[in-house]
Amino acid sequence: MKRVLFLIADTGGGHRAAAEALVAALEQVAEPGAVACRIVDFMKETARAPFNRAGDMYGPVVNYAPWLWGLSFYATYPRPVRWIGTTYIEKVYGAGLARIFREERPDIVVSVHGLATTAVARVLRRVAPQTPFVVVVTDLSVAHPFWFCPDATAYYVPSQDVAARARRYGVPASRITVAGQPIHPRFGEPQGHPADLKRAFGLPPDRPLVLIMGGGEGTGPLRAQAEAVAQSGLPLSLMVVCGRNKRLYRRLSAQEWPLPTVVCGFVRDIPTRMAAADVLITKAGPGTIAEALTAGRPLLIGEYIPGQEAGNVSWVVDGGAAFYTPKPSDIIAALHQLFDTAGRPTPRYEAMAAHARRMAQPDAALTIARGLLDLLGDRPAPTPSAAAV
Ligand code: UDP
Repeated sequence: MKRVLFLIADTGGGHRAAAEALVAALEQVAEPGAVACRIVDFMKETARAPFNRAGDMYGPVVNYAPWLWGLSFYATYPRPVRWIGTTYIEKVYGAGLARIFREERPDIVVSVHGLATTAVARVLRRVAPQTPFVVVVTDLSVAHPFWFCPDATAYYVPSQDVAARARRYGVPASRITVAGQPIHPRFGEPQGHPADLKRAFGLPPDRPLVLIMGGGEGTGPLRAQAEAVAQSGLPLSLMVVCGRNKRLYRRLSAQEWPLPTVVCGFVRDIPTRMAAADVLITKAGPGTIAEALTAGRPLLIGEYIPGQEAGNVSWVVDGGAAFYTPKPSDIIAALHQLFDTAGRPTPRYEAMAAHARRMAQPDAALTIARGLLDLLGDRPAPTPSAAAV
């Protein structure tokens, strides 16, 4: 049995979701019992307090001071700053990572987080120099240079934009595969008829359903967006997924809504909810965008986290599958372009749904899983060496 170790951090829901998608895909493509996967939050499981709680800061920072996040994103581009950052990560998390590598003895290490790259490669080289180190980038367009470690064995990236950035930051082209954003294979499977799914959620089967999400943390002006949907004057219904944002969940559940509405916290059945929905309003999270495209649903992008999500907006809007709707009035105008006053989808809706299906890459996780299996069969693989950042 081959052991696959995934490194993530729960900064948002996307990294864990991508790792879980890859585990599910490996279970589909490998012989039964051939691989054992473990997902490790490299911040929580390797360091003592307060350093193990660094990832917990992400949600509050992007929610309450997104400008601060954007500032630190771009301020850490220059090479000397990245060198300091990498040295810090190695110092704080290196000993714990080395312990995990010694205990787990993985046959391959797969990073699904932009901070678990160069420092991890250094530690892995010291502890298990023959172990392949693979990086799966989970930003659709503007991936931070921290993601790129020229000596990783292989890179899987979601788009040509990210492939170009990887080459710019020193990753040899021969090691880069454009596979798509890894989403759970369930998103590509039939979920049932939307009318039946709506009924199962307690919503009317004949009204278009607007699904509002804000990533794993419930980030963004979800309440204002829900109110815009309610004020659109269209015969719609509404579902708001608040993720781990408990305060938002309490507020929205206590509110009276003038249209059929379901409010929930963090849920595990997003594939079914997206299949039930007719349109999605979301921040520009890469996982949610890729999932909605696979479901063939047009998107209204309400906002983006400055930094890594900025490029996601133009990527999906230019692709014809989304409107950028930062203001409530933009949401109302977009909904009137997508549905007529009787709630029937317009030709514009059909065109955007077709663009969404064209942009979708439902098999990305399976493609990456097959690549990982190939690497596991091809050992010894190139040795990761500590790259200069
Ligand atoms: N998600 C989920 N349950 C929820 C809310 C979100 O499973 O209640 C998943 C969502 O389907 C997606 C991920 O969390 O796979 C969010 O990732 P994304 O990249 O969109 O945003 P992030 O949370 O990383 O900012």
